[in-house]
Amino acid sequence: IDHDRPRRLSVLGSTGSIGVSTLDVIDQLGGRDEFDVMALTGNGNLDLLAEQARRFGAKLAVTADESQYMALKDLLAGTGIDVAAGVSGLMEAADLNADWVMAAIVGTAGLAPTLRAAARGADIALANKECLVTGGNLFVDAVKAGGGRLIPVDSEHSAIFQCLETDQRHAVERIVLTASGGPFRSQSREQMANVTVQTARTHPNWSMGLKISVGSASMFNKALEMIEAKHLFDVRPDQIEVIVHPQSIVHSMVGYTDGSVIAQLGVPDMRTAIGYALTYPKRPALNVDRLDFAKIARLDFEAPDEARFPAIRLARTALERGGAQGAILNAAEETAFNAFVEERIRFLDMADVVEAVMDEMTAISAPASIDEVFTVDREARLKAADVIAARER
Ligand code: NAD
Ligand code: MG
Repeated sequence: IDHDRPRRLSVLGSTGSIGVSTLDVIDQLGGRDEFDVMALTGNGNLDLLAEQARRFGAKLAVTADESQYMALKDLLAGTGIDVAAGVSGLMEAADLNADWVMAAIVGTAGLAPTLRAAARGADIALANKECLVTGGNLFVDAVKAGGGRLIPVDSEHSAIFQCLETDQRHAVERIVLTASGGPFRSQSREQMANVTVQTARTHPNWSMGLKISVGSASMFNKALEMIEAKHLFDVRPDQIEVIVHPQSIVHSMVGYTDGSVIAQLGVPDMRTAIGYALTYPKRPALNVDRLDFAKIARLDFEAPDEARFPAIRLARTALERGGAQGAILNAAEETAFNAFVEERIRFLDMADVVEAVMDEMTAISAPASIDEVFTVDREARLKAADVIAARER
């Protein structure tokens, strides 16, 4: 893969929050004049997918929903754009010869296609943190074997990536992940017990998909990010700190052995991290808002309250236990999240479900293949469903 040519790229999950922002960045950086868009994928939302595919002249449009194949084909009739569907369609999208692949599918569904693109040697811009949380070293090794780059898109990890000097890796003491604290940052446990999905999905600073918004409210998103950070930056669990920073302006920091702390700051807009991942090691010129420090006036920091946000403690436990605990935490959390969205369990129950499943499955070693990831994932989902069913009764 030639890193200097105008790039061929694909966006897995182009119809989501990150996907739409990615296409906006591509537009800002020259659109079809500068980039060849190979594959775009979505799940529902066919009209948007078809519109994107036409606008960027994609080679292939894929819906993950098999039953929508004909509908998508109709929408793109006469355009010359290939259409595919289902998991095999996603794999086809991953296989298409893009040099750069944005991994922006939500959840475990993103693992197989992202792994495929990584193994092929594409540069992976990683928004789908679940790849690292569930696959861990397996995923990192696949990228290494493929020979492409792994560039984080998650704002915290992009910040850390930007603060890490290659020549100073030996002097890294700690990484400090910032967390907004979400909509319930200053609520009591009693208040948090009865919150609705509507309030849980309302993030104070960022506009994002449903899963990650609820994950910000419970801090399970931060839990996933702690595990993501461990694999991305190869640090020990005790080198990963979480600090609540309600303004979401310091996106994360790296502390060095000389006492220096280097931080990356910006407005809460994912396009900065996406643009960095697209142009790395250069920086693009982007039309995003600039920080106005006089207006901001102050930056606050506070320790996370692990009694109200047990997700942080559970991530630490998962990191210390190692093995398959990341995949187990992730699968149990996705299951608990679905049950919360369906109003079958309450907000604080989510952490109880995850903890129960993690504790039941401590003996499983780190998955050595993608099939092993899926086996553990399935088992953890079944156990989580049992715990949830017992609570409903
Ligand atoms: P989203 O829900 O807005 O979009 C998800 C995308 O995945 C859509 O294109 C959807 O069609 C597709 N999709 C959903 N289910 C699928 C399935 N079963 N198979 C294939 N495709 C499917 O989500 P998002 O907020 O854009 O997040 C995407 C990923 O990026 C997540 O892993 C999230 O944690 C991560 N992330 C998001 C943000 C953000 O600001 N939104 C920030 C950091 C990291
Ligand atoms: Mg993040």
